[in-house]
Amino acid sequence: MKTLHSINFSDTAIAFASKSTKELKHMRFLFRTMAWSKMTNISVSFLKFALKYHFPIKNIVRKTLFNQFCGGETYWECGTTMDKLHEKGIFSIPDYSVEGKEDEVSFNQTVKELLKGIELAAGLPMVSFSVFKMTGIARFALLEKIQRGDELSSEEKKEFGRVKERVTRLCFEAETHNVRLMVDAEETWIQTAIDELCIEFMKRFNTQKPILFFTIQLYRKDGLERLKKMYADAQRDGYFTGFKLVRGAYMEKERERAKTLNYPSPIHDTKENTDAMYNEAVSFCLHEDIATCVATHNQFSIEKAVREMDPKDMQISGFAQLYGMGDFLSYNLAHAGYKVSKYLPYGPLREVMPYLFRRAEENKSITGETTRELSFIEKELKRRKAALNSK
Ligand SMILES: Cc1cc2nc3c(=O)[nH]c(=O)nc-3n(C[C@H](O)[C@H](O)[C@H](O)COP(=O)(O)OP(=O)(O)OC[C@H]3O[C@@H](n4cnc5c(N)ncnc54)[C@H](O)[C@@H]3O)c2cc1C
Repeated sequence: MKTLHSINFSDTAIAFASKSTKELKHMRFLFRTMAWSKMTNISVSFLKFALKYHFPIKNIVRKTLFNQFCGGETYWECGTTMDKLHEKGIFSIPDYSVEGKEDEVSFNQTVKELLKGIELAAGLPMVSFSVFKMTGIARFALLEKIQRGDELSSEEKKEFGRVKERVTRLCFEAETHNVRLMVDAEETWIQTAIDELCIEFMKRFNTQKPILFFTIQLYRKDGLERLKKMYADAQRDGYFTGFKLVRGAYMEKERERAKTLNYPSPIHDTKENTDAMYNEAVSFCLHEDIATCVATHNQFSIEKAVREMDPKDMQISGFAQLYGMGDFLSYNLAHAGYKVSKYLPYGPLREVMPYLFRRAEENKSITGETTRELSFIEKELKRRKAALNSK
């Protein structure tokens, strides 16, 4: 095992070794366009409009956002990408990214897809986890009602019974095939309902080892407290916990809702507070030997986690980034011998568009992550040109 001193996150030759120069130029074009905030706003608005009115935009989206951020339309189509990542020591977390469906047919279709994914994952050494979103298999408004503590109608009770059946099938399949299963974290006003469901299933399926992994968002003021309580409860009741640690993806929505409904924002007031709590949560998990997935693109948090990780932690813990982002982190971590995975979204192109629009929106800031990503791509293109010229 190499140490942090041998990881150089600016090593673009390692970061982009699996990308051809043509692919890199394409990435540069895409990130430059996304970094141009006005252009991204106009493009995303146009694409949303075109999608609504069934304009033939599939090819444009496929050649741009889809190829950059998704592994394919089906699990099988992700195979080539998974192989390519694994060649460089990176694992995959195939993520069926169909969102915004609210009917039972779609929920059952998602479960079918997830069950197939879990079964396939069992035979694929390059897959580190399966993953799902509770709102992919349960109605948002139902979870919201449960969290509020409102009485459910008899129809809703049956509906909730079907949600539990779906989770049972997923956990059972994961346990049978010895595949670790992650549950994504979502908005605070449904997250308590998700927490309670997860705890119920962790008690049933995590008795021998962590099969079900739970996501904790540390942009929440109560993030660390929730993490510690869940861990303490699990210790007391004799089951394992496994955590994916993220900062959190719904900050603006959370703040807006809190303002509109006039309650204190559950989100930290500053980025510094989020960062401090995130790093503290990572230290806590590593110190307690909890199976942990450090899911972040934040280099400082990664460097800190690497410093605190010992070989024992490496057996059960690792890092994760999203496919199409943070390659300089993933490839350099893998090169240095750390366990690192990429969330690999997939699904029918039309259905994953909401996910793609979010990625474009997230990358539109001209500061921070996108700028760094872009500067590394440019550095690598320059390096390759210089290497060619010196021959
Ligand atoms: C593999 C993977 C899985 C993920 N799964 C989930 C999931 O299940 N649920 C989920 O919600 N998110 C998930 N995310 C997204 C994640 O929560 C972050 O939105 C994203 O990764 C950016 O945070 P960062 O740690 O990578 O980097 P950074 O760029 O260092 O942090 C950005 C994040 O900091 C926080 N932040 C920014 N500004 C402020 C501010 N002014 N005050 C307080 N906090 C601020 C926000 O959370 C913001 O997203 C996942 C991310 C990855 C990489």
